[in-house]
Amino acid sequence: MEKCDIKSLTFQELSSELEGQGQKAFRGSQIYQWLHQKLADSFDEMSNLPRPFREFLKQEYSITSLKKADVRISRIDGTRKYLFALKDGNVIESVWMKYKHGNSVCISSQAGCRMGCRFCASTLDGLERNLTPSEMLEQIYQIQKDTGERVSNVVVMGSGEPLDNYDNLIRFIRLLTDERGLHISQRNITVSTCGIVPEIYRLAEEGFSITLALSLHAPNDEVRKTLMPIANRYGLKEVLEACRIYFEKTGRRLTFEYSLVRGVNDNLDEAKALARLIKGHHGHVNLIPVNPIKERDYVQSDKKAIEAFRSYLEGQGIAVTVRREMGRDINGACGQLRKSFMEEKR
Ligand code: SAH
Repeated sequence: MEKCDIKSLTFQELSSELEGQGQKAFRGSQIYQWLHQKLADSFDEMSNLPRPFREFLKQEYSITSLKKADVRISRIDGTRKYLFALKDGNVIESVWMKYKHGNSVCISSQAGCRMGCRFCASTLDGLERNLTPSEMLEQIYQIQKDTGERVSNVVVMGSGEPLDNYDNLIRFIRLLTDERGLHISQRNITVSTCGIVPEIYRLAEEGFSITLALSLHAPNDEVRKTLMPIANRYGLKEVLEACRIYFEKTGRRLTFEYSLVRGVNDNLDEAKALARLIKGHHGHVNLIPVNPIKERDYVQSDKKAIEAFRSYLEGQGIAVTVRREMGRDINGACGQLRKSFMEEKR
């Protein structure tokens, strides 16, 4: 029988399980602290637990731990791209970025993805599987151990569609923000979605104060459908209504992500349509110059087009940022490192 994944249990679950097994009440706190604060990878490290109890735990539970398969460090800005190996042979990517306001980690929520966005490398081979809460946490834990520096911001913007792995995502957020663990502030967590409408409504009801980022990438359904298959399921009107409710329920302003692709969605008419579309919404636009992947012939917009797009939106009173390319020298587009690794292995 498969052992229970102890790192995916919330504090309450762990405590009540142990108590149900006749253990003292404080054992739950001790173990939780080892796992989520001291970031232990084995029961043998848990030196304040009696040896027979550690043996018992080994029989009942497994500790999920990711192995670093590769790390690339940018000479320009210190950005680190990690490739982690999972127990079943899958690999996933995570990125560590250093900013003035703290260290940020971008994590994957799935191995692969089934959303099929045209410009994205993570989805080319489809979905392998969902990541468990512990596998999401471990990306942050291993990076914090590797860098020796505290992580203060987490963005769920790596491979995968987080709202397609909803239950594990919610559990992951609870564990990550628990004061008995790393205690990362909910305000410092961003979840990015391609726009799965029912799950946006669900997320709005969780009582979190995390930021939701919506991948917009087009100012109308027609263009959006050519880039994102999900647009055939949920139209922009529906998605933006869900975003409005998200803001209403959580008070959190949204981020609208817009990847600029030359000749596809980057002309001034599109900027105008975008401004009309999000007028009255609470949020800002994050422009991402598309990162070309070799499997597709999408090209980055030139600097002038990006600047014109940005300044038009700004002129309309919309807050805009252009994503700074971090780790330009080590950067493939999202999911490319993983993909090339899997191909080499094959
Ligand atoms: N599934 C989530 C997370 C995806 S990655 C989502 O769809 O939001 C985070 C962002 O990067 C998304 O906005 C995604 O559309 C964008 N992205 C993916 N590949 C890209 C590429 N090659 N160039 C620019 N942006 C890309």
